[in-house]
Amino acid sequence: MARRTLELPDSVPLSPIIDLWDQQDPDGPDATGIYDFYRNLADGELTGQKCLSCGKLVFPPQIICPSCNSTELEWVKVPEEGELYAFTELKLGAPIIVENYAPFVIAVARFGNYPENGFQISGMMFDESYEELKIGDRITWDILEIKGPGDKKRYWYYFKKL
Ligand SMILES: [Zn+2]
Repeated sequence: MARRTLELPDSVPLSPIIDLWDQQDPDGPDATGIYDFYRNLADGELTGQKCLSCGKLVFPPQIICPSCNSTELEWVKVPEEGELYAFTELKLGAPIIVENYAPFVIAVARFGNYPENGFQISGMMFDESYEELKIGDRITWDILEIKGPGDKKRYWYYFKKL
């Protein structure tokens, strides 16, 4: 199945705070140590982390565990089936990189047995209308390819209904 792609025109200026490119390059000037998160997305997997010290699951990716400050974190795949926990619709004021895709749904989903042993993750939904969604819907994640500006290709994720 073809991956969903967002195309960004060359004229879109991406500020460093929303441009993930340098974080995807392990040798880049802004390498943060979480580049494996982006490499995993490029390989088709949404991953979070599991702390090897206290066992907590961590998302978004960190370089230290927010619970116990351990730096021993391993990558774990986010379960492919989750539950819609909360959602709203963004109609106006979408960030410049996705303003052409509005309206779209912003969702919070839970994967696994959150909070004991699972992930709570926010993400966009492009294919479902707000009116047709309800709390508790089964949803999954998929990989989003972001092309441009220029030759750069970035990866992110989005949610869709199962
Ligand atoms: Zn920990």
